[in-house]
Amino acid sequence: MPLTPVLTRNWDDPQCWTLASYLGQGGYRGLGAALAMSAEEVVGAVKDAGLRGRGGAGFPTGTKWSFLPPLDPEHPKPHYLVVNADESEPGTCKDIPLMFASPHTLVEGAIITAYAIGCHHAFIYVRGEVVPVLRRLQAAVAEAYAAGYLGPNVCGSGFDLELIVHAGAGAYICGEETALLDSLEGRRGQPRLRPPFPATEGLYACPTVVNNVESIASVPAILRAGVDWFRSMGTEKSPGFTIYSLSGHVQRPGQYEAPLGITLRELLDYAGGVRAGHRLKFWTPGGSSTPILTDAHLDVPLDYEGVTAAGSMLGTKALQIFDETTCVVRAVSRWTRFYAHESCGKCTPCREGTYWLVQIFDRLERGDGTEADLDKLLDIADNMFGRVFCALGDGATSPITSSLEHFVDEYRAHLTPQGCPFDPIAAMPNG
Ligand code: NAD
Repeated sequence: MPLTPVLTRNWDDPQCWTLASYLGQGGYRGLGAALAMSAEEVVGAVKDAGLRGRGGAGFPTGTKWSFLPPLDPEHPKPHYLVVNADESEPGTCKDIPLMFASPHTLVEGAIITAYAIGCHHAFIYVRGEVVPVLRRLQAAVAEAYAAGYLGPNVCGSGFDLELIVHAGAGAYICGEETALLDSLEGRRGQPRLRPPFPATEGLYACPTVVNNVESIASVPAILRAGVDWFRSMGTEKSPGFTIYSLSGHVQRPGQYEAPLGITLRELLDYAGGVRAGHRLKFWTPGGSSTPILTDAHLDVPLDYEGVTAAGSMLGTKALQIFDETTCVVRAVSRWTRFYAHESCGKCTPCREGTYWLVQIFDRLERGDGTEADLDKLLDIADNMFGRVFCALGDGATSPITSSLEHFVDEYRAHLTPQGCPFDPIAAMPNG
């Protein structure tokens, strides 16, 4: 399957983040096409294209937009658009480079989306620690205002839009859409109970579309090149192209834009394979919140259905590659520590569960673990999965249950006074 550079097509241009470069690549033509259509027609096009949310869950984007209640002149409640640019899932590195290299793709997508959903105030909630990206976004928004793509009467269309770039303060939980909204409103970021979903009650309790960066950035190309073109890539249920991020023990880590349904085997060919002299042991399809897969899954189609059928989830398409030098217990232990640190503490199973999981992993690593600890890991995971407030707790259990399923012998190999039998130096990139 060939690579399909659409979102990444101008990343090699030395001035790729500027308006001039973006216009030279056909930028803002999608906006022109959208403004010549009615808002309903734009929603219809995105629905027909079958674009699915690229933040991880794969929820159909056009369908989400159509959930907003109609604007009611009698009881005016504004519609808001909030772009979730708080990319934080371990291994996930697609939205950050996209905004850094081509911020206008996101700005154009946000304008089209706002037009489609009748929104006059839109927000980009970006991960605040990534200051260069924040600066590039702010500069692109300023350029778009100066060129008449933002502000009153966008491109002479009569449509008004203010776009605000807001920097978060660096909490993983603020990538969860309702925690993000709380944070944007100036409160401590903690998940809200859903339903109501943001589509009916979101920012300031008003109907709100929350979409991931890559989802919004994919919209201009659909308007520019058409639904049939978009559907000519990918599969029937997972159409189009997407950005896969490859990291870990791979020769050429980075972002690879390809049709949905490509396999890891094909992507590894583009990325030069697993590091020289080593072999694939396990990998994640969508960052550490998705069940791990093994070398038996090299030919799984990387689309929403294919990865689910293989027992995992496509998620953020963050393919973290680990070769045979990696101790799976150590890798999962590191992720578990991350979840314990990032748990917001609002719900008991997640707050307590992640804490106890870390204690057990520490015992296993030290050589103080017992067979009963392996059962306890599964028991705690079972008491978290589906019983927590948001996806963080569920995600925390995924690598644990899946690694125990695929590598229980490796866990048992830790039940000696020596603990972990692996050499941590060998697993380092230059080990
Ligand atoms: P979800 O499936 O609950 O919801 C997905 C989207 O669809 C949300 O915007 C939600 O509001 C909307 N939705 C779902 N049902 C709806 C309904 N009935 N009415 C209206 N809207 C509805 O998933 P989630 O909890 O929002 O997100 C979980 C995903 O986040 C995971 O799959 C994970 O891969 C991903 N994730 C991504 C990152 C990252 O850095 N990109 C980090 C952590 C997790």
